[in-house]
Amino acid sequence: MEKNRQNNRIKAVFLDRDGTINIDKKGYVHDPDDFELYPFSAQAINIINKLDYLVFVVTNQSGIARAYYTLEDLKAIHLKMNKSLREAGARIDEIFFSPYHKEGSVEPFDIDHEDRKPGLGLFKKAFQKYHFEIKKSYMIGDKYTDIEFGKRAGLKTILLLTGDGENEFLNNRNNWIYKPDFIVKNLLAAAKLISKFGE
Ligand SMILES: [Mg+2]
Repeated sequence: MEKNRQNNRIKAVFLDRDGTINIDKKGYVHDPDDFELYPFSAQAINIINKLDYLVFVVTNQSGIARAYYTLEDLKAIHLKMNKSLREAGARIDEIFFSPYHKEGSVEPFDIDHEDRKPGLGLFKKAFQKYHFEIKKSYMIGDKYTDIEFGKRAGLKTILLLTGDGENEFLNNRNNWIYKPDFIVKNLLAAAKLISKFGE
């Protein structure tokens, strides 16, 4: 971080969570016991850490608005995620989440909100706090909405084929307005790609 500041080269990698870092179980992981990292996630994030990128998680968690789980449940899951990754030598700098959905039932989250990807609310929060160089930064995720979010923010984008990614690619790619810069099989392949091509 200090070194980055001195070189004026703060850069960031944004990661989606479900289907990117952990196995997406029907879209709504709500119990820490059900939370399962992909076996390669810690290695991948460690590679990104060593390349001096800040690592942010940006995740839609509309299950809170929909009353499938609570903010406390989400906090417990994120504690587990951070702990598991830390024990394996990987570091996430900050997690940004959106609990909103307009079809939800839980106030005050039952609204349309810019924080919900592909809205840019979470990106703006990260940028205001960390002031990274957008053009040197990446968004990695398994859904088209992750790519749309990244592209609209000005980030380089990587679509993964884990989670919903293969389905997105096979069935929806003709409808994409924003094309991913890269498509790779999983988060580890994405980390290796960044280490090869960097900025
Ligand atoms: Mg996802």
